[in-house]
Amino acid sequence: SEEIRLVGIGKTYAGGNAATAALSEIDLTFRRKEFTAIIGASGSGKSTLLGLIGTLDRPTSGRVYYGDTDTSRLKADRLADFRFERVGLVFQHFHLLPALTAVENVLSPFFGRRRGDARAKAERLLDRLGLGAKAHALPSQLSGGEQQRVAIARALVNDPDWLLADEPTGNLDSRNAERFFDLLQELKTETGCGIILVTHDLQLARWADRLVEIKDGRLVGDRGLAGDDAC
Ligand code: ADP
Ligand code: ADP
Repeated sequence: SEEIRLVGIGKTYAGGNAATAALSEIDLTFRRKEFTAIIGASGSGKSTLLGLIGTLDRPTSGRVYYGDTDTSRLKADRLADFRFERVGLVFQHFHLLPALTAVENVLSPFFGRRRGDARAKAERLLDRLGLGAKAHALPSQLSGGEQQRVAIARALVNDPDWLLADEPTGNLDSRNAERFFDLLQELKTETGCGIILVTHDLQLARWADRLVEIKDGRLVGDRGLAGDDAC
């Protein structure tokens, strides 16, 4: 199945100092059914890397391939569709739309697109995540853990091949954070998606199959994790 391949990736922000690139010379391959944690200190380039993996942003140099597709060759509107079909995203602050109910938030990636049977899918996902009774609640009526589950349902509503998450446990207590990691393992087994997660929490990163470490914009570690916590 389709791998994500980063080849010779560099990223320098416009207006930023060219001498301090956010990322340099990154080569990485991600496989489906693999749960990768990207770790590193604050400012090391983790979020930048995740944004490039997810095609939210474009590299200054190098290429991001999904299978045989060189995403740098896709124009912006085509890239948005490409991303919609393949990638689900969960962010630290969840970014739920405050005026929409939980189920409407889950459906929000479909704005301007054909929904098909997505509503039934959204309701099933919320049930599955223990939020069936709160499908019509507003984000302000939900706890942090509940909001996070809405954000996860939103990321999964289109059956993505890849689930990308940026510090998704940053606003959760340790119990909810561990539950979140259990859920990721279940999803990986059930759907075969690839999971790529950015965290600075080493305690939680040990639940991953693979640890990729970034320091000052460079790849300094890439190792598989054996043992009971990995599949
Ligand atoms: P991390 O996620 O590891 O905290 P980031 O990827 O957010 O790291 O940031 C890496 C570097 O790029 C930092 O020096 C940061 O200040 C810089 N940076 C991140 N986003 C931007 C941006 N939009 N414009 C300019 N510089 C940025
Ligand atoms: P931080 O890790 O600094 O708290 P966030 O998790 O809030 O950052 O968001 C990370 C980056 O992703 C921000 O630049 C934000 O604008 C962008 N972003 C957040 N949500 C989405 C989304 N649903 N689609 C596209 N980009 C998003």
